[in-house]
Amino acid sequence: MRLILLGPPGAGKGTQSQRLVDKHGIVQLSTGDMLRAAVAAGTPVGLKAKSIMEAGQLVPDDVVVAIIADRIGQPDARKGFVLDGFPRTVPQAEALDKLLAERGLKLDAVIELKVDEGILIKRIETRVAEMTARGEKVRSDDKPEVLKGRLDAYRAQTAPLAGYYDAKGMLRSVDGMAPVDQVTAALDGILKPSSAV
Ligand code: AMP
Repeated sequence: MRLILLGPPGAGKGTQSQRLVDKHGIVQLSTGDMLRAAVAAGTPVGLKAKSIMEAGQLVPDDVVVAIIADRIGQPDARKGFVLDGFPRTVPQAEALDKLLAERGLKLDAVIELKVDEGILIKRIETRVAEMTARGEKVRSDDKPEVLKGRLDAYRAQTAPLAGYYDAKGMLRSVDGMAPVDQVTAALDGILKPSSAV
């Protein structure tokens, strides 16, 4: 099973991806996680990405496409994967189409988590406040001023992907504002027919 979860920061892509991993034995490929690991390790990619990520902007397409090209070829991704945070631009989506076609692979679904942006910002602020209260480290790009930039980037560069996949007849949408278990149930409903194949 190969999936894409689309949705702005804080829509619940990470949480739902983790549940899909547990249920279907696939891997979660989060370019955000991979880039954060590269930053932490101080690799050349990390050095290039650090300031861009801190500013809430998008890392260049060629950088993330190279990361994904390498990652989907690894043995643990053979059974399938859920892409979380990739693609984020139309050129990334086109590059992914090419990568998959070269490998004779197809996507099973592209699922958009639809959310209300105003509520979303409140949700992330609450998450940040709770984590801070527990003494946990908060992602630096969850700060309100950076978060706003990430949402702007989503609207300008990533939201057009819904149209891109809709035109291919692949887009499905679920209400990302529903309680987490309901969102999971909605995803299960969409994935049942294809997972039975
Ligand atoms: P995320 O954890 O998915 O919210 O990603 C955190 C940050 O990593 C983003 O704000 C971007 O700076 C960068 N990033 C992650 N995935 C991508 C991508 N597919 N394209 C460009 N930048 C990305």
